Amino acid sequence: MMWYGRHHVDEDDIQAVLDQLRHRSLTQGPAVGEFERAVASYVGARYGVAVTSGTAALHLACAAAGLGPGDTLVTSPTTFVASANCAAYVGATPEFADIDPATLNLDPAELERRCAGFQRVRAIVPVHFAGLPCAMPEIRAVANRLGAIVVEDASHGLGGRYQDGSRIGSCAHSEMTVFSFHPVKPITTAEGGMIMTNDEALYRDLLRLRSHGINKMDDALLDPEHAYTDGLVNPWYYEMQELGFNYRITEIQAALGSSQMRKLDRFLARRRALAARYDEAFRGSDFIRPAQAGGRELSGHHLYTLRIPFGRGCVTRAAYMRRLFEAGITAQVHYVPVPLHPYYRRRGHRAEDYPNSWQYYQEALSIPFFYDLTDGEQDGVVRTLFDKLH
Ligand SMILES: *Cc1c(COP(=O)(O)O)cnc(C)c1O
Repeated sequence: MMWYGRHHVDEDDIQAVLDQLRHRSLTQGPAVGEFERAVASYVGARYGVAVTSGTAALHLACAAAGLGPGDTLVTSPTTFVASANCAAYVGATPEFADIDPATLNLDPAELERRCAGFQRVRAIVPVHFAGLPCAMPEIRAVANRLGAIVVEDASHGLGGRYQDGSRIGSCAHSEMTVFSFHPVKPITTAEGGMIMTNDEALYRDLLRLRSHGINKMDDALLDPEHAYTDGLVNPWYYEMQELGFNYRITEIQAALGSSQMRKLDRFLARRRALAARYDEAFRGSDFIRPAQAGGRELSGHHLYTLRIPFGRGCVTRAAYMRRLFEAGITAQVHYVPVPLHPYYRRRGHRAEDYPNSWQYYQEALSIPFFYDLTDGEQDGVVRTLFDKLH
């Protein structure tokens, strides 16, 4: 069965994990810091904080930003639910603004228009859909006019670049950027995520919040009476200074992550070549069009997503996906719009209120796209896609 996405783990990844298990620490050792520095130096950010998932990374970013009840976070309706849920975790209110149909990313003009109707917008969460960079200078400008911070959901974006050539994750236009290392994402640690930032105060907050809110680095101790004996810190003493979590990633996962980072450019080059081959194969088709036609040189190439006018001169999507499945291809729809989920509908959201996102959802399909996909297999996918359409 050929999935829309799949990890690539090879012999030296396995060796890195075995070495870690045999000879090194399992948790709270040096491997996590090494992984954080590898990602930070690759993307050009000062700090990285590795955590248990991309979702945990989004949650910690909201907590470190001090979002809470009465605050609003605005994101795209065309994303995974975690981009919005992170607001709810801290008691803030998730809201949405429509996408630009050409990029599938937040439309800055729509963002500004929607935000005018929201109370206390404190955070904007742009999602670099499939790794294509959002219009960051424009989104930054909207955030500045609102007095909001920007947290980039770059779960798809590791390896991609902004229009100015700097890497997604450098936080050139944001306070924080979040990556996911779920197996379908650009690199994997099985489960995992990371928050990038250039702000030392946020970095320290993130470190503390990752581990129960207990003091880290050279945090000033808040209770000297119990912290010190004869002017020296008590050897056993630690302080929980705020309510945090246990979102620590393991050393084993970090070893896998560092090993995967060394292959990221190779992964990206192959996925870019596959995207160019698909683009060529679908050129001129009346029914099968790439959903994001531009920005191929900048994208992190996480997904290859099509737009097909299902049910209008060709099969329905449900029938098409079943036919593809029988032919050994597991396609997927990215995404069920977040406001369509019953949890969000119960809170008054309507997916139809975002017409570009809604229209895209009717037509969307992601097809097999991953490092190990061979040219021959890809040609087979293309043939099957055309064969099963009518
Ligand atoms: C995968 C993903 C997440 C969540 O990441 P996990 O590591 O699975 O928790 C968040 N946002 C987007 C856009 C994603 O694709």
